[in-house]
Amino acid sequence: MFSKLRWRVALPFIILVLFVMGGLAAFIGRPACTANLACIQRAVWTAAGLLAVGIIALAWVQAEQGSRLLRQLAELARQMAAGKKNGRLLAQKQNDAGDLIKSFNFLTDTLNGRITDLTEEKRQLAAGMKFMADGMLIADETGKVCLINPAAARLLKIKKKQALNHSLAEVIRHHQLIDLWQRCQKENREQVAAVEIGRDLFLQAVITPYTEKDTRGYLVMLQDLTPIRTLQTIRRDFISNISHELRTPLASLRAVVETLQDGALDDPPAAERFLGRAEHEIDTLTQMVEELLELSRIESGLVPLKLEETAVSDLLLTPLERLRPQAKRNEVELILDLPAHLPPVFADAERMQRVATNLLHNAVKFTPPGGKITVHARLNKKETAVVISVKDTGPGIPAADLPRIFERFYKSDRARTRSEGGTGLGLAIARHIVEAHNGRIWVKSNEGQGSAFYFTLPISR
Ligand code: ADP
Repeated sequence: MFSKLRWRVALPFIILVLFVMGGLAAFIGRPACTANLACIQRAVWTAAGLLAVGIIALAWVQAEQGSRLLRQLAELARQMAAGKKNGRLLAQKQNDAGDLIKSFNFLTDTLNGRITDLTEEKRQLAAGMKFMADGMLIADETGKVCLINPAAARLLKIKKKQALNHSLAEVIRHHQLIDLWQRCQKENREQVAAVEIGRDLFLQAVITPYTEKDTRGYLVMLQDLTPIRTLQTIRRDFISNISHELRTPLASLRAVVETLQDGALDDPPAAERFLGRAEHEIDTLTQMVEELLELSRIESGLVPLKLEETAVSDLLLTPLERLRPQAKRNEVELILDLPAHLPPVFADAERMQRVATNLLHNAVKFTPPGGKITVHARLNKKETAVVISVKDTGPGIPAADLPRIFERFYKSDRARTRSEGGTGLGLAIARHIVEAHNGRIWVKSNEGQGSAFYFTLPISR
């Protein structure tokens, strides 16, 4: 079509052409005229009629084009509002509509570019927030939560839906956190605190007020310090346990020395008895120091395992023979049940003998006279490992102690009161050694019905 300017030039021509056509039509029909005036009148009316029809037709075409464009624009705007990109108007003709279309297409292209950038930015932010280990919440000026990441939802044990648009106090719930937030609101500056939620969650909370252009709000960061806290507790317990364990034999030694100084030295049989006690306490101390050193060596990984293809019998026979005299003294039967054709395992023989010795020593220590200890080995169902078990007919282990007996220094009350004593390190060492072999160690026991310790060792292929 024509541009606006061209229309202005073309319109008088069209009118002239229509008018002339009307005149011509009237001239062609002139024989029917009875007078000249009537002929002229007819020519004028015909030309005017044709002109009117032409103008109406042109106006209709123009109006139709305009409304089609408007309809297209409306449809495109609807699509863009619905998030559909790439909406463009195709017709690009040289007129006003063409200019409008060009501008509209430029607008949609720019908007699409912005939307793409924003979407990418939003996606990156959302991924960051989703996979962030720390919890993060954003509350608006009134304290309404407008954003919460999955870590925060997990730490606060709340669903995202329950948190959004609810007050921060309702979401964080814990009184120490609420106090922290109220302090932050009052003083309008960052607040930091370590908060213990329940018995198993230790958080560091940081609440920061922020102002961004006209928006004010609060950023809450929650860092889970529970693993660090657990490590600290283990270290504290370890130091307190070791001090306690060392104090007992040292106190006993001091008592022996004092008794000897107070005159027992002049009584040779008594002196001998006291020296025997001193020797026993020194043995206990030596064993404890050795076991502690062994534990720290295994934990630090400084002394690597000497893994070799080893026959299961090589791991069990030496410990059994070592403990046989003590078992005999305690009137306890020791049985080895070793099937033929067991595949060899991949193990550090010396270390694994230590595991077997620790388990056997406990079994001998706790099994009363007349009891029985059975050492058994078998291939597991998947034929990937050998399972070795040490079962006794001793007093068994109380259910409350079962989850803790592999911890360093853990001893049941019964064990504490026994004269043989023990460091409480034997099972911790056994667990470390077995796990360093990619094996597993566990116990099954019912109080009064004996105990069964199991461990696995991968077979050598
Ligand atoms: P300890 O040097 O005290 O024996 P361990 O780490 O070897 O230390 O064992 C930890 C605790 O596990 C023992 O004090 C005892 O309470 C329990 N325990 C281990 N083996 C047996 C067993 N065969 N029968 C009963 N209790 C056992």
